[in-house]
Amino acid sequence: MNTPTILVVEDDLPVRNLIVTTLKTHNYRYLTAPRGEDAVMQASSHNPDVVFLDLGLPDMDGIDVIRQIRSWSNMPIIIISARSEDNDKIEALDAGADDYLTKPFSVEELLARLRVTIRRLSLMQNSPKDSSVYLNGRLKIDYAAGCASLGEDELKLTPIEFKLLTVLAKNTGKVLTHTYITQNIWGRSWDNDIASLRVYMATLRKKLECTPDSPQYIQTHIGIGYRMLKVE
Ligand code: CA
Repeated sequence: MNTPTILVVEDDLPVRNLIVTTLKTHNYRYLTAPRGEDAVMQASSHNPDVVFLDLGLPDMDGIDVIRQIRSWSNMPIIIISARSEDNDKIEALDAGADDYLTKPFSVEELLARLRVTIRRLSLMQNSPKDSSVYLNGRLKIDYAAGCASLGEDELKLTPIEFKLLTVLAKNTGKVLTHTYITQNIWGRSWDNDIASLRVYMATLRKKLECTPDSPQYIQTHIGIGYRMLKVE
């Protein structure tokens, strides 16, 4: 992948400057937009690799920026939110955002999120769309055969655990909300399903993770959802 171009959508000048300086220092290319309307225009005319998007913009809600971009592009969007309420993040993730940063954030955190996203991007570009086998660290999933293994050992998964693993694997690097996951597994999302999800996640982790208390593959986002990480 060539030097990635990052679109920074942020009306708060000090925050925008911090992000731009960080990107410059680490040799990323960047574009900036202080308003939602500019963001949508820049996204469509320059086709950036990743978008950092502040949710609180002066002219429109960041969620609407996500919806507009998602109507024609899958470019990764990382939300930057000053709001501590999980509901805003959940709404943005369900609208199609990939990840989130909560203000105030550290430069290290920003760079880490960017690396995860770019890794996910190159993963998508390098793997054929119809690939029926998924590889991640020691984990291998054969979608067509409906089985998964860790190294040499086949994982003895129940159908729901397998479905759960598949939903996460197909979105490696992306934070998935509880609602998104339960809808993909059961076709609906009730409070009960979210409670069941926790139980299935615990049993899946026992089989998948060497140390379920410090998981290597599936990351928990408390109050929000889960993310499959790319393991080296
Ligand atoms: Ca703002």
